[in-house]
Amino acid sequence: MALEPGRTVDELRELRELTGDADGAQRVAWTDTWVAAKEWLSGKLEPLGVEEEIDEAGNQWFTLPGESERALVIGGHIDSVPNGGWLDGSLNVVAGVEVLRRIAQDGTPPVTVRLVSWADEEGARFGRSLFGSSAASGTMADQDEIRERTDANGIRWEDALAAHGVDLDGALEARHRLESTAAYLELHIEQGPVLEALGLPLGVVLGTFGVERHQITFRGQAAHAGSTPMDRRRDALAAAAKLALEIRGIAARTGGGAVCTMGSCVTKPGIVTSVVETATVLLDQRHLDGEKLAGMLAEAKEAGGRFAREEDVEVEWERIWRIDPILFDQALIELADEAVTEVAGRSHRLPSGPLHDAAEVARAGVPTVMLFVQSLRGLSHTKLEDTKPEHLELSVQALDRLAAKTMDRLSPS
Ligand SMILES: [Zn+2]
Repeated sequence: MALEPGRTVDELRELRELTGDADGAQRVAWTDTWVAAKEWLSGKLEPLGVEEEIDEAGNQWFTLPGESERALVIGGHIDSVPNGGWLDGSLNVVAGVEVLRRIAQDGTPPVTVRLVSWADEEGARFGRSLFGSSAASGTMADQDEIRERTDANGIRWEDALAAHGVDLDGALEARHRLESTAAYLELHIEQGPVLEALGLPLGVVLGTFGVERHQITFRGQAAHAGSTPMDRRRDALAAAAKLALEIRGIAARTGGGAVCTMGSCVTKPGIVTSVVETATVLLDQRHLDGEKLAGMLAEAKEAGGRFAREEDVEVEWERIWRIDPILFDQALIELADEAVTEVAGRSHRLPSGPLHDAAEVARAGVPTVMLFVQSLRGLSHTKLEDTKPEHLELSVQALDRLAAKTMDRLSPS
């Protein structure tokens, strides 16, 4: 029997009915609704006779044994943010079900094929993303911090994990699952406006952005708003404001999809009758090219210093977080391009701003690629998140083609 992409759209709607409400999807990891979604997924795959296992980090695996132990893995996440969209994460899982059906019906595949639903991609309840995939990739190094984390009701994460059969100390054992993995594929909604603006349904993802995140504090002198002449001020906000505008030029000059965001500015004393003494801003810079990212940071630091001198204030930088760009596999990118072109007529390569489970798998050294399908209005993490049904169907076809091409490539013969 052939692939039925329309069935994926029907099943996504079914999942939305089962696990959503008037405010959107409610499949927050480590909750009863998430468990209901996982059970629904098991029910969909049961007729295929695939082997189901939950690993040490709570990831849900379905295995279709092949002639070889080497495995092609298709992955996604069924958890959502609260009041989330119906497609973020679940599209890849439900599309993967359809691809597994097609492969199973074609007989024993040349390589083993697995579908994984990663546990807690979103980090919505405890504030740390990519739990299951970072355990499997071996990059999880913050168990002590995880142990202390609590949700909004004061429930400890470690206890919530235990209630779902996950022992935090053993979570890294999930690493063994990726040992035989020869390729990893993930289909996801774009969650941005690029493909829609280009009028294209599908794109191939080159990798995920490297990120530099800094807190910058400008320190001047609080002074009376009435009695301090303009030329005698040491206004911290003036320097911060100049930097807020400068980063747009830094991103534009760097190009290649560069983005720079100043997402917060807190001033003290923060009253209308005083010149600002301290302005603390948060800067987020992203690029797919590590050297360009470092260059953007250097430019921002130089500009921050220059503006501080101009305004006679001091400036201090503190790194909050950083991650290197994670590039996907060149050979798989080529195959994905072929698959998208066959299905949609034209392909487009683009970077991913958000991190994804696929980035964790790539960090573990597994050849990886992602497909993006257009998001209407670029919206995600809201109930307004949507994609045209015909584009969803194309995305299932593209994932299936890509899976077939990848299996061919991995086959011994
Ligand atoms: Zn997602």
